[in-house]
Amino acid sequence: MKTSIIGYPRIGRLRELKFASEKYFRGEITASELEQTAKEIRLYDLKLQKESGLDLIPTNDFSFYDGVLDTAFLLNAVPERYTSLGLSKLDAYFAAARGYQGERGDVKALAMKKWYNTNYHYMVPEISDSTALRLVGTKPFELFKEALENGATTKPVVIGAYTFLKLARYTGEKRTSDFVDDAAAAYYELLKRFSELGAEWVQFDEPSLVMDMTNDDIKLFTALYEKILVGKHGVKVLVQTYFGDVRDCYNDICRLDLDGVGLDFTEGKKTLELIKANGFPSGKALFAGVVNGKNIWRNDYAHTVSVIEELKKYSDNIVLNTSCSLLHVPCTLSNEVKLSESYKKHFAFAEEKLEELAQLRNILTAPAPEDTTEYQLNAALHIEPRIGSDPAVREKTAALVDSDFIRQPSFEEREKIQKARFELPLFPTTTIGSFPQTADVKAARTALRKGELSTEDYEQFISKKIADCVALQEEIGLDVLVHGEFERNDMVEYFGECLDGFIFTEKAWVQSYGTRCVKPPVVWGDISRSKPITVKWSKYAQSLTNKPMKGMLTGPVTILNWSFPREDISLKESTLQIALAIREEVLDLEKNGISIIQVDEAALREKLPLRKSDWKEDYLDWAIPAFRLVHSSVRPETQIHTHMCYSEFADIIKEIDDMDADVITFEASRSDLTILDVLKENNFRTEVGPGVYDIHSPRVPSKEEITEVIGKMIKRIPVSKLWVNPDCGLKTRGIEETVPSLKNLVEAAKEARHENS
Ligand code: GLN
Ligand code: ZN
Repeated sequence: MKTSIIGYPRIGRLRELKFASEKYFRGEITASELEQTAKEIRLYDLKLQKESGLDLIPTNDFSFYDGVLDTAFLLNAVPERYTSLGLSKLDAYFAAARGYQGERGDVKALAMKKWYNTNYHYMVPEISDSTALRLVGTKPFELFKEALENGATTKPVVIGAYTFLKLARYTGEKRTSDFVDDAAAAYYELLKRFSELGAEWVQFDEPSLVMDMTNDDIKLFTALYEKILVGKHGVKVLVQTYFGDVRDCYNDICRLDLDGVGLDFTEGKKTLELIKANGFPSGKALFAGVVNGKNIWRNDYAHTVSVIEELKKYSDNIVLNTSCSLLHVPCTLSNEVKLSESYKKHFAFAEEKLEELAQLRNILTAPAPEDTTEYQLNAALHIEPRIGSDPAVREKTAALVDSDFIRQPSFEEREKIQKARFELPLFPTTTIGSFPQTADVKAARTALRKGELSTEDYEQFISKKIADCVALQEEIGLDVLVHGEFERNDMVEYFGECLDGFIFTEKAWVQSYGTRCVKPPVVWGDISRSKPITVKWSKYAQSLTNKPMKGMLTGPVTILNWSFPREDISLKESTLQIALAIREEVLDLEKNGISIIQVDEAALREKLPLRKSDWKEDYLDWAIPAFRLVHSSVRPETQIHTHMCYSEFADIIKEIDDMDADVITFEASRSDLTILDVLKENNFRTEVGPGVYDIHSPRVPSKEEITEVIGKMIKRIPVSKLWVNPDCGLKTRGIEETVPSLKNLVEAAKEARHENS
């Protein structure tokens, strides 16, 4: 029995890639220095994987920014606006990822979207009628050779043709089916190249196969693979799926001339059922995703062994695999020095999952798996009762009744009351919450953590930052202000730290997009709030201005979705517990004179089941009420805002309206404001602030550009409902671009006001 993984974190154990890339962006190191850091990370991981005894080591899972973007460059699917800048290959790549503004031009980045049901984001490839897909890139081959030179014949990993075509955005008349021949030819060529280089296996990642598929989708998938597999050139081909089951195309996959099929037994609710009902083709390897690639708990060997024993009835060629790429978990537990062993022994990060795979292989090849020491130690760990349970919290969630989820009076009445209270101008301007987390802010936090700065001095520093931020916003002329979120490392981690029931890691970073990483808290016990969290800072900020100061909170669904959740209680129960805690905070803010409270639900859509048929029951039916619970008992004149970003909202737009917030701001500019039509068609009731410029790019939008966006908004949304704001929080931006951008935003709003009143 062999072991495999789908992919490995690429940022380095201490985020070396992030820091090197950022230095490169700032011009502090050269491209070859950046390449060198990348190589060191890859070789370190290669060595580690070899030493762990992993049989099928992946390559090309490394990326400087994102694997889908890499595939676009591999297949010649890069819009000319990036290639025509005359930049080096690496810089053209970063231009597509981050936008470019400089001597050679001014171009926006490609759109960015959440990667299926994760908090990882991919760059959306753009395909136009003139795109000629063909194999032009060399990265997968170079990385294969690099590993070969270092003693390993690896399994190259490439995003598959079907998934690539499904994820792309088509800007002209042509659609997926028009690109089948070219795409297939490119992948055919790719297999040929790998065969020449001596690869044994090639893995094509096809997560799109776990989505709902139409007949046309199935035809597209089979047409592609029939053509690609005509010439495998002696290379074994694995189609790897993850994030769910392949119920729509299981038999179609099985019929193809593949050598391996990768299935997910963790999130794939129906995977086992599919195999039991249809069997598994002999002659193919079954890559069984039994080690969870998304969560950090130790694998339950008893469960895994029982799954594999069952699978043995259907296949005599099983490869033990992770359920998805390990990209979604932190690198290593060995950097966690503060966390007590009583917690740590329950965790497995990427490195520890390699060990688990090796142990599982030993167990499963032993004459009596249950008798092995590894099995027994694991069983003992899993029966240990978990400390941190809080019956009082469970009682509270159990006692919730329907009326706890309904805010009174109705939206329409509140809207009137609030218009009278705030007397805001037409197109009120605001920001999403955070202001640039400049080096001094990060340094102060680090100093506090290391004990080099006293709490008192730290708070003094934060107060000063807030005061400056408020003054700056007044100077810029914004209407609804924010305190800037300087006291927060991260919108979820901060709340996690202030709530009981979470535990924290020191270095357990996970890539979110490009160089941005997050350190998700871990839900350990039952969640509750023992004291106010944000009241002090919000109250202080409000005292500095006569304009309304938004209180800023993170919503329960987002807190849960961006944490590592427990696996022994339901997501619904955990979310309701968090909702009750945030509700207390909302009421405390209101009591302390905060008149506008924003509850961010950036990750609302994230855990939406990938298949539509599972949406309501498995998610929306508790996620939307959890948000409503947070604000259902505030006064009518208190205005509740929410914020969402980087996901497809169109199909849950009714549910978003049902969250019953008073105002919602969201990311729109990277997806070309397509959301506006959806709002109009659905008679969206909540007031809206579709972001007027992209904040994930250092470019400064001109006033004219923003005016144009406002113009588009006015055409579709009643002016009385429109807000003007950036796409998202400004924390990743520098102050140099933030100030002129916001000034242009305010000017554009003023002009629109003038023209529309
Ligand atoms: N209030 C948060 C901020 O501004 C929202 C961030 C987000 O949507 N991801 O940083
Ligand atoms: Zn956002």
